[in-house]
Amino acid sequence: MSYTGPPLDPFDPFGAPPPRRSPLRRGLTVALAVLVPGALVGWLAYATFGPDGEGDGSGSARAATGSTSAPRWPNPGNGKSGLAAPSGSGTATDETTPSDPASSGKGSSGEGSLAGKVVVIDPGHNPTNVEHTAEINRTVDIGTHSKECDTTGTSTNSGYSEARFTLDVAHRLRTLLQQQGATVKLTQDADRPYGPCVDERARIGNAAHADAVVSIHADGSGAGNRGFHVILPGSVRAGAADTRAIVGPSKDLGKLIAADFAEATGTSPSNYIGGGTGLVTREDLGGLNLSTVPKVFIECGNMRDSKDAALLTSGAWRQKAAQGISEGIVSFLRG
Ligand code: ZN
Repeated sequence: MSYTGPPLDPFDPFGAPPPRRSPLRRGLTVALAVLVPGALVGWLAYATFGPDGEGDGSGSARAATGSTSAPRWPNPGNGKSGLAAPSGSGTATDETTPSDPASSGKGSSGEGSLAGKVVVIDPGHNPTNVEHTAEINRTVDIGTHSKECDTTGTSTNSGYSEARFTLDVAHRLRTLLQQQGATVKLTQDADRPYGPCVDERARIGNAAHADAVVSIHADGSGAGNRGFHVILPGSVRAGAADTRAIVGPSKDLGKLIAADFAEATGTSPSNYIGGGTGLVTREDLGGLNLSTVPKVFIECGNMRDSKDAALLTSGAWRQKAAQGISEGIVSFLRG
């Protein structure tokens, strides 16, 4: 990685994460903001508002790229990206899985080209985690430290849960990838009472010898914080975690997904984390630390922002989101 600054979350490797808004965390946040000016305002807001959870607003985060590797975004700075009203009849309850071949864009031309390729989709959280707080609060070893098995995830202000969102996008993405001939496996499909735990989520991808893994999420940050970001694994070697072999290919995968996601959805990269690149590297996520195959997370938007929520609750928009993620994966697997 090109990052040469100081370690960003020096206490995390030594035990269970502290409470989110502990004085230590606040103090560290201020120190980090001084040390990492590129992430200053956005990270402060993120650390203040983001919920704890695997992928959603906790732990150390930094912009992943320098100026030479930032993706090119469609319609940069036009101020309207992602603001278009959701089309069609898509609503939060529109959770069928439309797979109109005509809407599958450039992906439809290469059916079968991913034969032999294995993609694991990891829908973040689980709709019934909320009923199993004791189970999901137990800690698991992620190599660098221990953290909760899983979390409930966030929701929109109107109550559409992140767990429902991630499953719906996962179903749409599975359909698109299967149309390309890929073998697709989900880490969970609301077919278990809770979890899997984050360590098991990683192991599922490893055991499948996946060529690519994507973990689907939506964030729970403050109102006004908008846009998507892709989370890349940092270089970690501690305990059972050793990401050195996957950092490079995961970054390639993440950059392709970010670019295609932006293009397919018309949304902009996060305005609160990642320095405008839409890419963030983290070393505190079990799902990444324990992966031995190329893997990224995507936070598709901020459920707590009303404009982002209007997109996230639209079935038509979720189809575009799945399309963008699919195209990034296809590009990665085709090399
Ligand atoms: Zn999440």
